[in-house]
Amino acid sequence: MPFPISADKIETRHYINGEFSESSDKATFQLASPYSHEKIADVCEATVEDTNRAVAAAKAAFPAWSALDPTTRGGYLKKLAELIVANHQELAQLDAMSMGRPVSSYFDAFASAGYFEHYAQAGLSALGTTSLNTPGFVNMTFRQPIGPVAAIIPWNIPVMMFGMKVAPAVAAGCTVVLKSSEKAPLSSAKLASLAHQAGFPKGVINVLSGHGTPSGSTLSSHMDIRLVNFTGSTATGRKIQQAAASSNLKKVVLELGGKSPALIFPDADIAKAAADTVGSLQLLSGQACIANSRIYVHESVAPQFKEAFKNLFRGAKKGDPLLPETQQGPQADAIQFERVKAYLKAASEGKGKLELGGQATQVDGKGFFIEPTIYSDLPEDEKAQKEEVFGPFVSINTFKTEAEAIEKANDTEYGLYASVYTRDISRALRVAKAFESGTVGINATSPTYAQDMPFGGYKGSGQGREGVGYSLDEYLEHKTVLIKLEDNA
Ligand code: NAD
Repeated sequence: MPFPISADKIETRHYINGEFSESSDKATFQLASPYSHEKIADVCEATVEDTNRAVAAAKAAFPAWSALDPTTRGGYLKKLAELIVANHQELAQLDAMSMGRPVSSYFDAFASAGYFEHYAQAGLSALGTTSLNTPGFVNMTFRQPIGPVAAIIPWNIPVMMFGMKVAPAVAAGCTVVLKSSEKAPLSSAKLASLAHQAGFPKGVINVLSGHGTPSGSTLSSHMDIRLVNFTGSTATGRKIQQAAASSNLKKVVLELGGKSPALIFPDADIAKAAADTVGSLQLLSGQACIANSRIYVHESVAPQFKEAFKNLFRGAKKGDPLLPETQQGPQADAIQFERVKAYLKAASEGKGKLELGGQATQVDGKGFFIEPTIYSDLPEDEKAQKEEVFGPFVSINTFKTEAEAIEKANDTEYGLYASVYTRDISRALRVAKAFESGTVGINATSPTYAQDMPFGGYKGSGQGREGVGYSLDEYLEHKTVLIKLEDNA
C-alpha cells in the first residue's frame, strides 16, 4: 500500500443502488487535513434527491434480500469482513488524513470486520417463540426484518461504527442507507467499494456523504425508513428523535455523548489507575464518547494520583497522525478545535485550578493541537465540568466519602461509561450498582469493552443497546400469530 494513499485513488462519491455516482446537483464540500490544513479532496454532498434515491434503492432491494436464507446473506458479510481486514492500512490512512486519528492506535478495521464475521453466522438466531398457554390455540411469534433502515454515524470511529450498524442490519435481512460524517467521509466510501467487491446485491448497502442537513435530516424524517440508528451528539440525537416522531414514528436507536466519571479510592493501585485514565483521555485526543473526562480521587491519595497522571499525560508524542510514532493527533477539524478552545477559555475564567496545559498548540507550525489539559477543583456547575469537551481535557476533583463520590459521578445528564478503582470487592460492586451508566469498569476504564456485552447509555447518553448478541434484536419486528385449533370431532 503506497504511503500515504494518492489523491486520485480516493473514492469521494455516493454509493447508491450498486453504483458510484456524484450528487444530483454536482455539489461537493472540501475536506482538509487537520494536521497540514492542506486540501485532501472535494467530497460529494448528498442532496435531498440523492438521499431519496438511496432510500428508494434500499426499499426496492428489501423484498429479495429479506427473503434470502440467512446463510446466503452471511456469505456476503463474511467476504466483506475479509476485505476490511485486507484493507485495514488504507482505512487507517483515510481516517488519519480526514480527522487526524493516529494510525498507531487504529483498531477500528479489525473491530468492524469482527462485527461482519459474527453477523455472518448470527442471522440464523432470528427465532420466534411458541406458546400453548391459550386453550384451543397454538400461538407463535415470527421475527422479521423491520424494513429499510438508516444509519447516521459520527467521525471519531467511523469504520467501527459502519460495522456495528450495517452488519446486524443486513444480517437481519434489512437494507441500509448509511450517511457518513462530513468530517470523515472517506473510509465509509472505501467500505462501500469493499461492499461492492464483496458482491452485495444492488441497493442492499447504500452509502452517502454529506452534512446533517439536508441528507441526515431527510433520512430521519423519511416515510420509507423504518428505523434510524444514530451515533453522535446528544443535541443531534434529540433532533433525530423529533424528526422520527413527526414523520412515521420510526424506531430510533441512539448512541450519544458522555461525560464519564472515574472514582479512585485510597486502596486502589494508583499507578494503574493513573495509566488507565490517561490512556482513556489520550485515545483520539480526547474525542471519544467514553473518555473518562471527570476524575474523582479520594483526598488522601489525590497528590500521589495527580502527580502520576500529570507525568503520563504530558508525555504523549504529538505529530502527524500518519506516522506510526504519533500518539496524539490534532483535533478533527477547525470546528472541533474552536469548540475545545472555547471550553479552555471558559475554564480559565472559572474557579478551577489549572494543573497542566490549557492552551492550543502546534507541531512544526502545523495542526489543530490542544495541550493535554488538567484542571483540579473545577466547580461542579461550571461549563467545562458539565458539558462534553471532546478534547484532551480532564478535571481531577477530590472527595471524602463514597456517598459524595457517587453523587458527584451521577450528577450529569449523561450515563455512558463509569469506572471505579478499588481493591475492596464490596465497595466495587456497591459503586457499580449505584452508577447511572450503561457500562461500568471495575479497575478498568474505557476504551476497555467487550464485544459480546451490550453497549449503550443511560439518560442523555442514548437509548437502545448495540453489540454482538444485542443489535440483531433492534432490526427484527415481533409478529404474534394466533392459530385457532379446530375441536376434535
Ligand atoms: P454530530 O451529532 O455533530 O454528528 C453525527 C452525525 O449526525 C453526522 O453524520 C452528522 O452529519 C449528522 N447530523 C448532524 N445534524 C443532523 C440532523 N439534524 N439530522 C440528522 N443527522 C445529522 O456528532 P459528531 O460531532 O459527529 O460526533 C461526536 C459526538 O458523537 C459526541 O457527542 C460523542 O460523544 C458522540 N459519540 C457517541 C458514541 C456512542 O457510542 N455513544 C460513539 C462515538 C461518538
